[in-house]
Amino acid sequence: LVFFCLRVLRGRGKQSLHNLNMLEAAFSPPSLDLDNLKLLELIGRGRYGTVYRGSLDERSVAVKVFSSVNRQPFVNERSIYRLLLDHDNITHFLETEERVGTDGQPEYLLIMDFYPHGSLCTYLSTRTVDWLSCCRLVISVTRGLAYLHTELVKGDVYKPAISHRDLNSRNVLVKPDGCCVISDYGLSMALTGKRQSGHAEEDNTAISEVGTVRYMAPEVLEGAVNLRDCEAALKQVDVYALGLLFWESFMRCADLFPGESVPTFQLAFQAEAGNHPTIEEMQALVSRHKQRPKFPEAWKENSLVGTVRYMAPEVLEGAVNLRDCEAALKQVDVYALGLLFWESFMRCADLFPGESVPTFQLAFQAEAGNHPTIEEMQALVSRHKQRPKFPEAWKENSLAVRSLKETMEDCWDQDAEARLTAQCAEERLAELLVLWEREKSTSPAVNISTALHNHR
Ligand code: ADP
Ligand code: MG
Ligand code: MG
Repeated sequence: LVFFCLRVLRGRGKQSLHNLNMLEAAFSPPSLDLDNLKLLELIGRGRYGTVYRGSLDERSVAVKVFSSVNRQPFVNERSIYRLLLDHDNITHFLETEERVGTDGQPEYLLIMDFYPHGSLCTYLSTRTVDWLSCCRLVISVTRGLAYLHTELVKGDVYKPAISHRDLNSRNVLVKPDGCCVISDYGLSMALTGKRQSGHAEEDNTAISEVGTVRYMAPEVLEGAVNLRDCEAALKQVDVYALGLLFWESFMRCADLFPGESVPTFQLAFQAEAGNHPTIEEMQALVSRHKQRPKFPEAWKENSLVGTVRYMAPEVLEGAVNLRDCEAALKQVDVYALGLLFWESFMRCADLFPGESVPTFQLAFQAEAGNHPTIEEMQALVSRHKQRPKFPEAWKENSLAVRSLKETMEDCWDQDAEARLTAQCAEERLAELLVLWEREKSTSPAVNISTALHNHR
């Protein structure tokens, strides 16, 4: 007799206080002593299992309990875990157990490491992530899936290629180090080697029709999975879901929403299909209308590839002179340098004597806003040859200001070859300093205004 100590059992009530007989442990002699297994708290409920946080001696474990009607997914998940060697990005499996529940029906337990952060879905719902952490999450999921998909022979141990068939953010768990493990192998399938015992034949009919509707690839929704190359086809289905997982993750990446609030966590297609999409809705959306999760406005800027805002006209036109690559790429840098001068001097109090200095503006912010698209920048910079505008205050004909404006213009010249070199730009700035000092000492007007300014 084994007593479950259910100390806390949120949302379930007394009827789940099992007092169980252990079935003969003949199925697989446990290497862990399960006599000390305690179920402490309900932490998850999926389609097939009820998951508890538990303890086994001093160790924190998670226990997935399958009722007798869910024997098939249990047997399947157990057989898959037995095929999986230890891997950083696969849930660490410990043991299984078959028992008789209070209702006299058998019950199946799958015992694994406990992951306190819970599922990726929960993790992303409760926090935003920066670029690096987000990459860590998705890279580790991808690594887990790559491992799953790979057939391996290590000595006399054979690991077949496996398709997950239910990849989604609830079936990925987050480790304390911010990497993920892939979990829930109830629907998974070995794609190579001899078919696993316990893999029911009745499953074959549904080979292409399992998984969570929201994450089903169009070919699954259409019942058109290529069964002639089943191995490749089922891997492709997993990768479709992986793409949706990337979207769900990066939609919570604070670095991809600079200066705005990050949207709350959304499941893929939540906006389009709500919380409980039917298969018909997903068919219409994904197969017929070929819709995919939408990229937000903030991602239009492509800022991580090279910032559209600062792209020289020849870059925007795809017309960089590659015959003299060295000179051409230096000219591209100098164009951006000119914009940088503008952004900086637009905040120079001495250049706005007697008026308030404009708030900081990115180059072309007035013309193209916060998230310019490449098309907008092409129109602006290449076609209309626009550049950041000099303010009224700079109309004043002091030699220093005139020279400053010329320096900028000579940096961002439409003709790349006419631009200053960086060395030349540096010399011009050095001259500017001298000019400024000289004018300040000869022009009382400037003197007074700067003095006033410093006083403010
Ligand atoms: P099902 O097959 O019923 O979907 P899962 O294995 O996906 O069951 O588990 C259901 C939920 O329980 C998961 O989405 C997750 O939130 C939680 N869970 C499962 N295993 C663990 C674990 N090892 N550590 C922490 N939480 C877990
Ligand atoms: Mg699940
Ligand atoms: Mg499952």
